[in-house]
Formats: sequence, C-alpha cells, structure tokens
Amino acid sequence: MLLEGKIALVTGASRGIGKRIATTLAGQGACVYANARTEGALDDLIAETGKTGDSEILPLYFDVSDSQEAKAAILAIKKEQGKLDILVNNAGIMKDALIGMIPDQLMQDTFATNVFATINLTQLASKLMSRQKSGSIINIASMVGEQGNDGQTVYASSKGAVSAFTKAASKELAAQGIRVNAVAPGVIDTDLVKDKEEAAIKFKIGLQRLGTPEDIANACLFFASDLSSYVTGQVLTVSGGAII
Ligand code: NDP
Repeated sequence: MLLEGKIALVTGASRGIGKRIATTLAGQGACVYANARTEGALDDLIAETGKTGDSEILPLYFDVSDSQEAKAAILAIKKEQGKLDILVNNAGIMKDALIGMIPDQLMQDTFATNVFATINLTQLASKLMSRQKSGSIINIASMVGEQGNDGQTVYASSKGAVSAFTKAASKELAAQGIRVNAVAPGVIDTDLVKDKEEAAIKFKIGLQRLGTPEDIANACLFFASDLSSYVTGQVLTVSGGAII
C-alpha cells in the first residue's frame, strides 16, 4: 500500500484515464474524491469499487472551469478530512479545428478547462498542502503539447501551457514541500480519441499498441507516492515511444 492514509482529488474521473487513476490510487490505500460534472456520472465507479469494499472513492460533483464551484469543493474536502495530499488535474477537453476556422468559443472553453482550471485548483490545493508542508500535484498534459499536431493548435497550446505551468509551479511550491509533475499521454484508448487507428498510424507508436488508462494511472501512482519523493517539475511522456 503506497498511499495509506492519503487524501486525493482526481478531476474528470467519470470515465477514461481519470476513472482509472481514481481506482489505482484508491487501490493503494488512498481515500479518493472522484470528480465529474454531471450528477450521477460517477455512479458506475462508486458501485464498482463499493462491491470490493477494500477501497474508498467518494463522489464530488463540480465543473472544474467554475472557480466558485472548485473553491467550494476544496473547502468541502478541508472540512471533511482536514487535509489534501494528492491532486490530479486530469479533466480535459479536446476539440479539433484548423487555423482560420477556430471559433472564439472553442479557444475559451479549451483554455478554461485545460489550463485555467488546472491553475485555479493548484492554487486552492496548495494552500491546504502548504499547512502540512507536503503534497503532490499531478497535471495531465499531452504528447501533442510537447510536439504539436496539425488541426490541434488550440488543444496543443493548452497542453503546452499545462507543461509550462507544471515546471513554473514546481519552482514556486518546492519550498513548501509540494511537488508538481505532469504526465503527458500519447494515444490512449478512451472516448476522447475518435479515430484510434488513424492516430496510431500517424504517431508511429514504437511499442505497436495504443496506450491504456492503466499505463497513465501507473505513472500517476509513481508521482503521487513517495517513490518519487525527490522528483518535481518533470513532464513524463507516456507514449509507447511515439515521442522520445
Ligand atoms: P475522456 O473524454 O474520456 O474523459 C474526460 C473526463 O474529463 C470526463 O470524466 C469528463 O467528464 C471530464 N471533464 C471534462 N470537462 C470537465 C469539467 N469542466 N469539469 C469536470 N470534469 C470535466 O478523456 P480522457 O480520459 O481520454 O482524457 C483525460 C485527460 O488526458 C485529458 O486531460 C486529456 O486531454 C488527456 N489526454 C488524453 C489522451 C488520450 O489519448 N486519450 C492523450 C493525451 C492527453 P464529463 O462526463 O462531465 O464530460
């Protein structure tokens, strides 16, 4: 049990990568607050883990891009647990548009969810973490934020911002014992990737398979636990060799 006694918040945990991160952290003994926007979206996750009874996952509904809702969520964790050890900023959206055809709303929505919410939740969580002089913040970036992709200038720049924020925040928060790292997934088999075959060919995945949510969750477990106690400010690409 790598996370016994730890309190974690995982955003965007109703499906895909976030869901797997939540179950992986809970499986290692953490009490995990799983977040989603839509009331009821976490029912499956809670039912699945409730059956085994050996891990604790609690639903926490809020829209990460709403700063008031995010503040209320962190305050609720503070009230119930008195602390927060791990924050995984996983919630994200991806909408493609070629340059010349990018609607203003697409830019606003993408940055509100992928970037501003990450910054906002980091601010809120680090206030709590600084009281205990420890904490691990993990941001989910993207391979395309590191190397770009045509048709994804907005998404790629939002994820590039997540990587840059991770590095800058790690410098600012290190003195308070808070580590900030990012995982940059390659092509992962979730609802987010519409044409998985095309993506696999385009990105030339060395290991010859799509990534799984578990591949990303395991990297998050490393950053969440004391196995990485001397690691901060890093962006770990988990792409099966698509980028090196
Ligand atoms: P999914 O679309 O499968 O899941 C996204 C999750 O985020 C859902 O639970 C969704 O909930 C939630 N979410 C979206 N917006 C908000 C919001 N405003 N507030 C709260 N929750 C929200 O995506 P993945 O699991 O594939 O992706 C997870 C992360 O990994 C994202 O940040 C993504 O950009 C990143 N990533 C994914 C890759 C991939 O190949 N799959 C590659 C690189 C990065 P709801 O049901 O409310 O929509």
